[in-house]
Amino acid sequence: MVKEAVKNLKPYVPELTLEQLKKQKGLDKLVRMSANENAYGTSADVAKALDKWHYRDANLYPDSNADELREIIASQFDINADKLIFGNGLDEIIELLSRVILEPGDEVLDPAPTFSEYALHAEIEGAKIKSVGLDDSGRIDLKAMARSISSKTKMIWICNPNNPTGTFLEADAIRAFVEDVPEAITVIVDEAYIDFTGGIHDSVIQLTKEFKNLVVLRTFSKAYGLANFRVGFAVCSDPLIGYLQAARLPYNLSTFAEIAATAAFKDQSFVDNTVKKVIAERKKWEHFLIKAGLPFYDSATNFIFFQVKGGDADALHEYLLENGYLLRNGLRKDWLRVTIGRPEDNQAVQKLIADYLA
Ligand SMILES: *Cc1c(COP(=O)(O)O)cnc(C)c1O
Repeated sequence: MVKEAVKNLKPYVPELTLEQLKKQKGLDKLVRMSANENAYGTSADVAKALDKWHYRDANLYPDSNADELREIIASQFDINADKLIFGNGLDEIIELLSRVILEPGDEVLDPAPTFSEYALHAEIEGAKIKSVGLDDSGRIDLKAMARSISSKTKMIWICNPNNPTGTFLEADAIRAFVEDVPEAITVIVDEAYIDFTGGIHDSVIQLTKEFKNLVVLRTFSKAYGLANFRVGFAVCSDPLIGYLQAARLPYNLSTFAEIAATAAFKDQSFVDNTVKKVIAERKKWEHFLIKAGLPFYDSATNFIFFQVKGGDADALHEYLLENGYLLRNGLRKDWLRVTIGRPEDNQAVQKLIADYLA
């Protein structure tokens, strides 16, 4: 009835809405610090742009090419506009790449731990995922990944910075890695969190001009604060971009999503401000974790992954939830991931953790 590969799938368990969870737990107030959303909201320009939309156009299909959004992104990154493909969130691009590239029996490399969608879609296509452990500092181990390449390898995922560890690889390291990967293997660098590094030369988008087998992914869901609108994109070269365009759904972005993303992209000062605040709060989190004696990885993102050393991560997770704060557990035994929130929420969670450990 269904294809062999999907029979044993474990479905993605999405976050409950805040309202659902509040009701379930009997809470008046609940702050989600588990999904890496932008704690500082969305650019005010987004609402202004959406207000101008004419609802009488609701019967018309959206612009399949997302031309306005395409043009401003291409000009900002100084790339050919034809190198861009948009998705209903980056999730859709991850699915599309897997669907277009993979056949049953192919091998896919990803780091471990990393974003779970890479493995899910490899599995749906009947491919085999080979996960490669991180190095001692929690960074993606490019040498070990290179050693894991076989004649069956078709795709390599590099999440940079990596979710859930938050660790970051310099562009030069990725360049050296891609140089050694055979051209028949597609290397995908997921830069969902690249804005939060604070560096301006950290992206490898420019390397797509040099390497035809390199794909770079971006999303509007994190630093741009648009998770609800579902907009992500890939930068890649011929001939892969043509195959992706041929296989994608023709109207995967609503006009609403395109307007919102365009307005958000134009307001880089909102992104800059978000990043500044996140970096300042991230430093306070690091300071707190050191003082509390809890090991963590150096994060270049809007979240921190830490070990509940000497305690029980699930119990701490529940204690924080009962006090109105939701963190992410279940990614690694004894570890929790916290999204950098607003200053008052970070402080409150830190105090709760300190009380719990005392
Ligand atoms: C959040 C996230 C995405 C998905 O982003 P959407 O555009 O919201 O689908 C992709 N990759 C990583 C690593 C993420 O953390």
